[in-house]
Amino acid sequence: MVVGRPFLTVEQIHNKVKELADVISDEYEGKNLLAVGILKGAFVFFSDIVRMIRVPLVVDFLIASSYVRGDSSGEVKMHYDIREDVADKDVLLIEDIVDTGITLNYLRERILMKGPKSLKICTFLDKTERREVSVPLDYVGFRIPNEFVVGYGLDFDNKFRNLPYISTFKKTA
Ligand code: 5GP
Repeated sequence: MVVGRPFLTVEQIHNKVKELADVISDEYEGKNLLAVGILKGAFVFFSDIVRMIRVPLVVDFLIASSYVRGDSSGEVKMHYDIREDVADKDVLLIEDIVDTGITLNYLRERILMKGPKSLKICTFLDKTERREVSVPLDYVGFRIPNEFVVGYGLDFDNKFRNLPYISTFKKTA
């Protein structure tokens, strides 16, 4: 296994998170913001961005994983769901990376069924060319090519989440 070249540095990440947080702070002024982190991958991005958002907010989390069976679309399994009542909330889902879009599409529809006041999505990374299911992304940190990346919360085999930067990753034989 090889952790490759740094793909996004600590400084690039910091600047982008600040930029996103500024836009979100302006757009959520006077609203009832519920920031929902999608675990485990988004835990670092989530904790950085909520600390830079300058409007009052409530946090919650959900844990989901998707399984791909053969060539067919993945199936999403919920391990932990939001505990907050979303009915009067402006929900902002915070994700680490959107790949096929299957996970986020499932989570988005699940939350919409609970009738939030509004629902938007913020993702740190977007691998647009891998998309299988279209999902509206309201705030995107970086659009990246189709490469497997680790660090800044993202894992391979549950490892490398603690790298402070994003790195490309290759699995050797
Ligand atoms: P999707 O349902 O959009 O295909 O999958 C999204 C999930 O796949 C992410 O939350 C993440 O867990 C995983 N994933 C997709 N691409 C990458 C990647 O490049 N690196 C890592 N570590 N995980 C990825």
